[in-house]
Amino acid sequence: MTKSKKAIYTIILAIALTAAGVSSCTTAQSSAADYNADLLSTAGANYWMASVDNPVTATTPDGFRVTLIGSGLPKLDLDKIGPSFLVEYKDTKIMVDCGYEAMTGLMKAGINPSSLTNLLLTHQHADHNADFTAFFIGGWDGQLGRRELNMAGPNMSDLYNAVIGFYGTDLDYRINVVGSPGDGIYTNVSIKDLIENTESFEIDGIKISAIPVPHTIKNYAYKFEAGGQTIVMTGDMTYNEDIIDFAAGADIVVIDALQAADFSDIPEAARAKVRQNLSKSHIRNEQIAEIAARAQMKTLVLTHWAGAMTLQNSIDLYREAGYKGEVVKGIDGMVVEPIK
Ligand SMILES: [Zn+2]
Ligand SMILES: [Zn+2]
Repeated sequence: MTKSKKAIYTIILAIALTAAGVSSCTTAQSSAADYNADLLSTAGANYWMASVDNPVTATTPDGFRVTLIGSGLPKLDLDKIGPSFLVEYKDTKIMVDCGYEAMTGLMKAGINPSSLTNLLLTHQHADHNADFTAFFIGGWDGQLGRRELNMAGPNMSDLYNAVIGFYGTDLDYRINVVGSPGDGIYTNVSIKDLIENTESFEIDGIKISAIPVPHTIKNYAYKFEAGGQTIVMTGDMTYNEDIIDFAAGADIVVIDALQAADFSDIPEAARAKVRQNLSKSHIRNEQIAEIAARAQMKTLVLTHWAGAMTLQNSIDLYREAGYKGEVVKGIDGMVVEPIK
């Protein structure tokens, strides 16, 4: 083979390998086009998609508004950010959970992470707090960073102390050499560890209640109430009766719907076993139907679902159980508003 023929052969081989690599990578991911082709909600639900060109910050809600920054799972996915949500009430913004790539998701939805001064975590699983360091340090750093921070969640102090401890030298350099103030990182930081069976506190006049719901570790469901509207975020949970009262009549309930998926991405022979194992930590779809029928929330948002999910299957199941409200298949960037 001559030198030039060898070079051409090498280029063709490289192109072929790259193409093979890309195609094997994309088949493992669900694509955004698949989501858009699928039914996203029942007809009465009120939602729109945020983006850099259509940012959440373009308007201020006159009541509550919930943005699904990330609807993903522990499994990494190019098209899904880890569990993270933005709850807004008028001018107040509260972030709930901070999954992997949550900061990227916030910026894609047009929100500057430095503008967020309230963070609640449902629980300390890695898929729900993986981007905490980026939120905490990246949102504070520099002259335009945040200068105050309010946080709550189970074992919140442990997470804070771990990050402060590990990055102490880095933080001290940024404060002492670069000149970032200590406010928002060492000082002006309020931390509430949730430990009781019912916790309640307030942020800017919004009443927030939290109750523990069963999962593999302590997980708190949150309820936000203001101006006659109610929002509930369950975090991860198995079936429990407490959530029925807690979510009764709420305007929007964002629920752990991991098992609303049809698991068609998993070989059929393995599906029953996967479901059985997941039922130890995540509510089954028939149980979501029962909770929805008894709580009769106005809009139920399904998040954290795995693999493929046909919304119509869940709608049929919930209607059969007697649920009359709206159902939304949550995807990243979706902004859900209470039905007026
Ligand atoms: Zn979890
Ligand atoms: Zn989770």
